[in-house]
Amino acid sequence: MTPLLLGFFISSSTVTGQLGLPPDVASKLHNDSQSINSTATDWGRIVHQSAAAVLYPNSTNDIATLLQFANNGSTHFGIAARGNAHSARGQAMAKDGIVINMTTLNNMGSRVVVSKSTSLGSYADVGGEQLWIDVLRATLEHDLTPVSWTDYLYLTVGGTLSNAGISGQTFRYGPQITNVHELDVVTGKGDLITCSSDQTPELFYSALGGLGQVGIITRARIALQSAPKRAIWIRLFYNDFSAFSSDQETFISGNGKQGNIGFDYVEGFVLMQQGPVDLSFYPVADHPRITSLLNQYGILYTIELAKYYDDTAKKSIDKVVKVLLNGFSYLPGFIFQQDVSYIDFLNRVHTEEETLRTLDLWDIAHPWLNLFVPKSRIADFDTGVFKGILLKEKVPAGLIITYPMKRNKWDNKMSAVIPGEEVFYVVALLHSSGLQEWQQFDEVNAEILQFCKDAGIMIKQYLPHYEKQQDWIDHFGSKLQSFQEMKFKYDPNKILAPGQRVFDDL
Ligand SMILES: Cc1cc2nc3c(=O)[nH]c(=O)nc-3n(C[C@H](O)[C@H](O)[C@H](O)COP(=O)(O)OP(=O)(O)OC[C@H]3O[C@@H](n4cnc5c(N)ncnc54)[C@H](O)[C@@H]3O)c2cc1C
Repeated sequence: MTPLLLGFFISSSTVTGQLGLPPDVASKLHNDSQSINSTATDWGRIVHQSAAAVLYPNSTNDIATLLQFANNGSTHFGIAARGNAHSARGQAMAKDGIVINMTTLNNMGSRVVVSKSTSLGSYADVGGEQLWIDVLRATLEHDLTPVSWTDYLYLTVGGTLSNAGISGQTFRYGPQITNVHELDVVTGKGDLITCSSDQTPELFYSALGGLGQVGIITRARIALQSAPKRAIWIRLFYNDFSAFSSDQETFISGNGKQGNIGFDYVEGFVLMQQGPVDLSFYPVADHPRITSLLNQYGILYTIELAKYYDDTAKKSIDKVVKVLLNGFSYLPGFIFQQDVSYIDFLNRVHTEEETLRTLDLWDIAHPWLNLFVPKSRIADFDTGVFKGILLKEKVPAGLIITYPMKRNKWDNKMSAVIPGEEVFYVVALLHSSGLQEWQQFDEVNAEILQFCKDAGIMIKQYLPHYEKQQDWIDHFGSKLQSFQEMKFKYDPNKILAPGQRVFDDL
């Protein structure tokens, strides 16, 4: 079907009817310019692609019916679920196809239901379109919480589960995909299937981290535990990468230096003299000495930690934190801490969002590069990329996040791809740029990827974006064959999530 014809078919209810799409689903397809434009861009502001129509589903059945219809006939068009479109490279777009605006599933009534069973403990059944902030708010009403997060909570459950969902809790609980008991998935063929590690496990495992390629997640059963009330939120400064990474690795080893269970959250940042540097976490009185430290060294590293606590630990928490921080190598006097509510800690990036929005610095281009780097090469990455490419070339560095996680907290049966070493680092190079300047940052990104290739650093991209078939083959490595088999089984006409570009040539 040509794009033009598809547009014609969609705009004509008679023809859609003849093609099998019932009128009640056809009536939820819109091709007015506002609908089309609203799905033609994303967080990255780099890719712009127009769909032929947008589906505003009221039910899981609407999605299943559309997919069944889309498999009819001899030619096929792409269909993409659009969560909150916080992808950076058009992953939730469907050029000349159909975008499903998942948010209208919210019209079905409450889509976060908290329950308990003897075998699973507490859990929440959550719509794939739900924002994690809404999941948090709903579960906190029961004094419960999911355990594994992303840094930013205005992302959908289906969107993050299609990648992995990582943050400073991953070292302890694994990524979000390993904290799911069960899924409802509408496959590329339009079948609605409930799956878990026991029931149709191949669909369950391939959908988790599966870049939306085998199905659309319409419900996820998420593990919950008791919610803490507050968090001690700490940042420690380093001028030496080896001390920084060695301390991070100790923090994630599960044991504080004193053999106790340690911190609940461990991340880290790289700060560069050329900025921009966000000092909003620190007392204003300390800004001059932090800036002068940065000017002295050109590059600094900070470890970010959180220790959760509740009312019973109120009196002892300061002592506990002091003990946990004993014996680490941060720069004396460069330790900063805040005591905040649990929700304010988890929702911290939203506070930044509000500030950036007032400065018109939120809806700009985001030429991001997210990598997983094996522990054995992270020092080479520091020398070659942080101190080499970025510092030496004075690239405005934006936000750089880096922290280690453990492979044994991931499940290799899932589609998400990580390096082979037991400990690996995420390196998130979160550049922002003017709408016309992102290419310059992409050139830097290309230089970084080339450096890793030349130096033999076996990175994997997180939130991957590749243009060439060979890059996808290399990315999936030993998982390629099974991923292809699952695609063939559940989406044989290669309809789903065309914006990921995984199966353009595979
Ligand atoms: C400010 C910011 C901070 C971030 N921080 C983190 C972080 O800390 N950790 C982390 O892991 N990620 C982070 N991300 C990345 C984010 O997790 C991914 O971009 C995620 O895909 C965004 O979710 P979304 O709902 O906007 O998905 P979308 O961009 O709408 O969709 C992403 C992909 O998933 C598919 N998809 C969407 N919904 C479904 C569904 N229900 N079923 C199947 N497929 C679906 C889409 O078709 C698309 O291919 C961050 C992004 C931003 C913008």
